[in-house]
Amino acid sequence: MNLKKTIKLLAIIGLFVPAAQPAAGQDLLARQAPVDRRMKAVDTVALKNLIDKENLQSPAAELYDDWNNKYAHRTTELPDSFRINLRHFCMPTTSRVITSNFGSRWGRQHKGLDIKVYIGDTIRAAFAGKVRIVRYEGGGYGKYIVIRHPNGLETIYGHLSKQLVEEDQTVRAGEVIGLGGNTGRSTGSHLHFETRLCGVALNPAIFFDFRNQDITADSYLFRRNGYEHESAEATRLRGKVGNGGYTREMVQGTPAQDSGERMYHKVETGETLASIAEKRGVTIARICELNHIRRNARIRPGQMLRYS
Ligand SMILES: [Zn+2]
Repeated sequence: MNLKKTIKLLAIIGLFVPAAQPAAGQDLLARQAPVDRRMKAVDTVALKNLIDKENLQSPAAELYDDWNNKYAHRTTELPDSFRINLRHFCMPTTSRVITSNFGSRWGRQHKGLDIKVYIGDTIRAAFAGKVRIVRYEGGGYGKYIVIRHPNGLETIYGHLSKQLVEEDQTVRAGEVIGLGGNTGRSTGSHLHFETRLCGVALNPAIFFDFRNQDITADSYLFRRNGYEHESAEATRLRGKVGNGGYTREMVQGTPAQDSGERMYHKVETGETLASIAEKRGVTIARICELNHIRRNARIRPGQMLRYS
C-alpha cells in the first residue's frame, strides 16, 4: 500500500475508533497516556540520532545527485534560495591571517580563501560530514581533501603536507583531517579553503570570520540575487589581507569552537520576533522560551534578547 493510501486509511480509522470506545476504554487510554508520552520522547531522541546518522552517511542528498570520489567539484544548478545552517562549526585552522581573498586575482578567479598556516599545522573539518575526496593534484590543489556536509556545503582544503582521513569516512566537526603545507601550485605554506554549494564556489568569508575565529551567524540564507553583493560585503568586512606583519601567535593560536554559550541579539528598529528568529536561525518559540516572553510580546529597539 502506498503512503497516501495508508494515511487515508488511518484517517478513516481515526474517525470511527473514538466514537466506538466504551467509557472504560477511555479511562484505560487516559492512564496509558503518560507512558505513551514518555515513549514518544525516547523515540524522538532515537529517531533524531538515526536521522543524524543517515544524514552523515549521505549528506545533503537533496542537493546532490551523486556521490563520487572523482571530481573535486562539478557545477550544478544552484537553488534560488537555500538556508545553510552554520552551527556546530569548527574553524579549520586557528590562524587569523588571510593572505589572499576570494574573487578575481591576476585576471583569474580565485575560488577560495588563502589562510596563512605553517607546514605541519593542524587542519580540522569545518563541520561534521563525509569525506568525498582525498587526492593529489600537482598543478593545483596539491594534497587536498573534499568533505560534504549535511548543511549542504562542501568544503575543500588544499596544499596540505599530509592527509589524515580516507575517502568515504565520516568526520566530526573539528576532527583533525590533515596538516598544513605547501604542495601543488602554491608559493609559501598556506591553507587554500573553499566553500561550495552545488559545486559553485561561494566566498568563505560569508560564513567564516578567521580574524575573530568565529562564524558570521548561526545560518546563512543563500539567495541567488543577493549573493554577489553579500560576497563583496564579506570581503570588505573580513578580508583584510596580511602579507607579512603577522606573528606566529596569530597563526597558531588556540582553537575556537562552538561553545554553546549564551548568545544575545540587540533589537534594532523595525525588527520583529519573526525577523530576529530568521536572522539567527532559531524558532520564534525558542526565543520566547529563553526570554520568558509571549509570542505577541512587544519588543523595543535596544532590547537584548537571548537566542541561544
Ligand atoms: Zn588559494
